[in-house]
Amino acid sequence: MEKFQQSMYDLIVETSTKLPKDVRRAIARAKVRENAGTRAAMALDTIVENIQMADENVSPICQDTGLPTFKIKVPVGVNQIEMKKAIRAAIVEATKNGKLRPNSVDSLTGKNSGDNLGEGVPVIKFEQWENDYIDVRLILKGGGCENKNIQYSLPCELEGLGRAGRDLDGIRKCILHAVYQAQGQGCSAGFIGVGIGGDRSSGYELAKEQLFRPVDDVNPIEELRQLEEYIMENANKLGIGTMGFGGESTLLGCKIGVMHRIPASFFVSVAYNCWAFRRMGVKIDPATGEIIEWLYQDGEDVDFAKELEKAEAAAALEQGDTRVIDLVPPLSEEQVRQLRVGDVVRISGVIYTGRDAIHKYLMDHDAPVDLNGQIIYHCGPVMLKDEEGRWHAKAAGPTTSIREEPYQGDIMKKFGVRAVIGKGGMGAKTLQALKEHGGVYLNAIGGAAQYYADCIKSVEGVDLLEFGIPEAMWHLRVENFTAVVTMDSHGNSLHEDVEKSSLEKLAQFKEPVFK
Ligand code: SF4
Repeated sequence: MEKFQQSMYDLIVETSTKLPKDVRRAIARAKVRENAGTRAAMALDTIVENIQMADENVSPICQDTGLPTFKIKVPVGVNQIEMKKAIRAAIVEATKNGKLRPNSVDSLTGKNSGDNLGEGVPVIKFEQWENDYIDVRLILKGGGCENKNIQYSLPCELEGLGRAGRDLDGIRKCILHAVYQAQGQGCSAGFIGVGIGGDRSSGYELAKEQLFRPVDDVNPIEELRQLEEYIMENANKLGIGTMGFGGESTLLGCKIGVMHRIPASFFVSVAYNCWAFRRMGVKIDPATGEIIEWLYQDGEDVDFAKELEKAEAAAALEQGDTRVIDLVPPLSEEQVRQLRVGDVVRISGVIYTGRDAIHKYLMDHDAPVDLNGQIIYHCGPVMLKDEEGRWHAKAAGPTTSIREEPYQGDIMKKFGVRAVIGKGGMGAKTLQALKEHGGVYLNAIGGAAQYYADCIKSVEGVDLLEFGIPEAMWHLRVENFTAVVTMDSHGNSLHEDVEKSSLEKLAQFKEPVFK
């Protein structure tokens, strides 16, 4: 079992830090498709740089560990109880070493267990089979994309697409709608797994199962092969693009599975996965516990280092007509009102992290620091303390901002905050507050945890650590932290614009395609 535990540790580290070859190829294809000099192209360049940095530093690609989910097939007679113990021990070690963020919280109290263990965490599912080796697959799927999963009960009416009936064409409409409703909030460009049939829980299970298929495999069921191909061809026409910035690459993969259902129910379940598609697998020798083969290693690898040489993000920016503005907080209202949607900002100075727990707290309490003119960063970083007691950010990309919608505008006004950084954009209430108060929303590149960790030059302090590492307020000194203004103080929102135009484009898919 000792060797098996080491194998599981290796699997966790590899999954968290290195994207599989098939995913890399899909990202490389998206880069080719995207128009040079656009915000989407800049976002893709940052993503590529981040993948490269995670490879080199053996650090998490994205700070959001998600809910680690293991799918294991074992020959008859293998001791599953001991395997579970070994996996849990490997998870604890990987968390201690900063390869995973402590991500398991008590649902009622919000208390973080600190080691990624908890009731039902990690998810470990066993199945017996007749082969003589163990097959272990692991997926780390973060909250931003998990929250964009969606389930349809057919027949139903879909925004932009009309009625979706209980047939292949109705399924087609559901999948297109699933891509549309995700917008950039699940860190597009993404991958989707679709489950047709089952009940509400087995349908989702089937959808997630599809995410374990290689990106470039071919569906053995002819109708589904055609549907997968159709979706890949057409979903990118919605123009949502990387991070929802608008653009040519919205979807990187679509895998569809089917199972029986009962006559009364017809579910189409969609599991959305971000570009940081961290899933890996190994074959294990049951006698020794050693890895005998790594999965998802077929085909050509992509040399992202070379790709980066070709397209330097900054160079692309300078060539376009995008304004690049340096910001040093505290910011004045006048400075902020000069910013417009589409501007790129480079921040140097101290910024403060705050996500769900901090926003809830600030509604009823004073802030632990003076936030007047400051910038709040929606981020739950991976942090490690060194032997001298100094904190270091190991992964620090943005988290989904829309969760703070009920609080954000009020908090900006109450404390004089001038900017928030996050990803996926915010809603009408925040947009109104930005206008009244004089504030901006800055979209960082979701999942680019290594890229942003590199911008953090020191950790100057921390407040409210009792909320747990991801939820605490970290004071981060950053240099050249780059983000795009996507909501400004003049009532403009890129997110609103892209959502509106993609809804218009969705309507072109209203007519039946599959009879
Ligand atoms: S890339 Fe985005 S959606 Fe994916 S895990 Fe990271 S923050 Fe979440």
